[in-house]
Amino acid sequence: MISNISKINGSQINYYFICKTKLWLFSHNIQMEQESDIVSLGKQLHENSYKREKDYLIDNLINVDFIKKRKDIEIHEVKKTPKMEKSHEYQLLYYMYYLKNEKDIENIVGYIDYPKIRKKIKIELTHEKKEEIGEIVGKIAKIINSDIPKPKKLRICKKCAYYELCWV
Ligand code: SF4
Repeated sequence: MISNISKINGSQINYYFICKTKLWLFSHNIQMEQESDIVSLGKQLHENSYKREKDYLIDNLINVDFIKKRKDIEIHEVKKTPKMEKSHEYQLLYYMYYLKNEKDIENIVGYIDYPKIRKKIKIELTHEKKEEIGEIVGKIAKIINSDIPKPKKLRICKKCAYYELCWV
């Protein structure tokens, strides 16, 4: 099934909430995240905490940390810190939205796992959230197809892989 969501990936949803400049740079294939300490720390934490679980890369767009089949299909996203909870929540909501719309999978619930603080948050794709995700996807497409958004100084800039591009 081809739709307007078929090219949006989980990182883009995440960056939409973190920084629109970052979203634009990443979406234009200026991808420097592998150099970021934060990402490698996150990966390390993920590997250490969930050694027996598997990643699922779906359509080269969404990367689910692990999936469990219980009464519902549970998709899990492992995060290092709860500091950016809104971006985490919407990234997972988008995964559920994508799987429902593109793969016709029903009965999905999402969990964000914070192994460092031993916390797990359940996320549900309600009708309102579905509508909201649809709007966000449209807004992301608009940002990507416009000029680069002017960078704004944020708390996370110093740890961002794009710091030099924005501020040096
Ligand atoms: S350095 Fe700051 S403004 Fe630039 S992309 Fe990163 S978070 Fe955004």
